[in-house]
Amino acid sequence: MKFEFKKKYGQNFLTDKNLLASIVALSGVKSEDVVLEIGPGAGALTKAIASAAHKVVSFEIDRELEPILKENLAEQSNSQIVFKDFMKVSDEEIETLVGKDYLVIANLPYYITSPILFRFFELEHKPKSLTIMVQKEYGERLVADAGESEYSSLSVLAKMLGTAKIVKNVPRHMFTPVPKVDSCIVHFEFNNKLYDKDMALFIRNCFKMRRKTLVNNLSSSYDLSKNRIQEILKNNQINITARAEDLSLSQFTDIYNSIKKLNFAF
Ligand code: SAM
Repeated sequence: MKFEFKKKYGQNFLTDKNLLASIVALSGVKSEDVVLEIGPGAGALTKAIASAAHKVVSFEIDRELEPILKENLAEQSNSQIVFKDFMKVSDEEIETLVGKDYLVIANLPYYITSPILFRFFELEHKPKSLTIMVQKEYGERLVADAGESEYSSLSVLAKMLGTAKIVKNVPRHMFTPVPKVDSCIVHFEFNNKLYDKDMALFIRNCFKMRRKTLVNNLSSSYDLSKNRIQEILKNNQINITARAEDLSLSQFTDIYNSIKKLNFAF
């Protein structure tokens, strides 16, 4: 079947059967599980998921893939393809299709990695886990710990909601067409915390200017004097010259709660 890959949709497909099987195995999916997939492409990963799960629901933006998917998934009666932009599907529709208890497995379109990830972070009924292919550098930022060079607001926001691990590195030549970047598979297990928008904004502000101290970043973001912020840091046993990259999630939480106690509107 003739098909032209569309760069604008991040179409880099997988074909290696061992790699596809290992993505599914790394997700920990069980035969009674429902799986949500974003971007089935030609259906190679979908097929591997369908053979291990109870049901897989896949959202694909590109209608031109319909005949290819029909042919490649002809024997997968537990696979359902929904031709829609995942970012435009409502929370209600997701719940109708996959219920409240599901897993996500996807070789993500990289141009919308963050919007997709934060969609799940902010969702009321979050999946149990995400097993997602992302660009290597993105995965490294997602899993980084305090003090590491890749540590960023993304790392802290991820720690707020669960535990992320890089479970496999995937070199670029495994994709067709071959992209300009290497990839990795991240497995993310959610805790049962809700996404706190104010705290997320606070963490982003802490990292606003990476080389600046926390005192400088916070005083330029909020209506608080440097002295006041230094006092808050001292009260929480945090060095007044600290930078965001040095702080653990619990230290961010302490500072955030101290500022909140001042009846501060974020
Ligand atoms: N799962 C396939 C594989 O592993 O070979 C294809 C993965 S490819 C990296 C990403 C897929 O996501 C493409 O099929 C692309 O058309 C689809 N896609 C891109 N943007 C999308 C969106 N907003 N909603 C749903 N699917 C999207």
